Amino acid sequence: MRAIADKTFVLASHNAGKLREFADLLAPFGYTVRSAAELGLPEPAETGTTFEENARIKALAAAEATGLPALSDDSGLCVDALDGAPGVYTADWATREDGSRDFMMAMEKTEKLLAARGADTPQTRTGRFVAVLCLCFPDGETEYYRGEVEGRLVWPPRGTDGFGYDPVFQPDGHAVTFGEMTAREKHGWQPGGGPALSHRARAFERFARQRLGVG
Ligand code: IMP
Repeated sequence: MRAIADKTFVLASHNAGKLREFADLLAPFGYTVRSAAELGLPEPAETGTTFEENARIKALAAAEATGLPALSDDSGLCVDALDGAPGVYTADWATREDGSRDFMMAMEKTEKLLAARGADTPQTRTGRFVAVLCLCFPDGETEYYRGEVEGRLVWPPRGTDGFGYDPVFQPDGHAVTFGEMTAREKHGWQPGGGPALSHRARAFERFARQRLGVG
């Protein structure tokens, strides 16, 4: 497997919530992580139709711009009763006309569409969070690591921890939403510890096992 020189990555994301989660997850491994925002890299348009395509667009742009291996994450919420929506458009549903993000608006939109489809029982409100990590080298060589967590959509939103759609997503086997969990509970996984829970931690667990040889 190709080595990562100087144990240094660029993290190809401008999303503060994701950056915080990645910093938490990568901290134990001795890797230096530089963020795309800190390096002043532009955010490429996410024009792909799959999580993999969008993850590669972001990682390749950051790797080419810096000459360093870049790690990106593309993620979203897929709701079964909405035919997998919002999917790759999860962030777009929270984007206002002025470009600002409003996740209450996005959660309300999801809820209105579920109500319009008559999805009012736990069994009809199933879905999953998906995260695809992409490691891309400046010459375009690419690796993918996918993680998913099954659950259901609840209404009204519950909890103030986390970010994005966390307050309306209750993972299977748990009585609380991601928004009611601490970061540690939401990820679940720690090196040598319990199994991963969140989609990002599950993708990261694969990445750490296969790429960093840990866990
Ligand atoms: P993207 O990966 O930057 O395209 O954004 C995906 C969107 O999915 C984010 O803006 C979040 O709103 C949502 N999302 C992804 N992961 C999570 C999560 O762990 N909790 C809540 N929302 C999430």
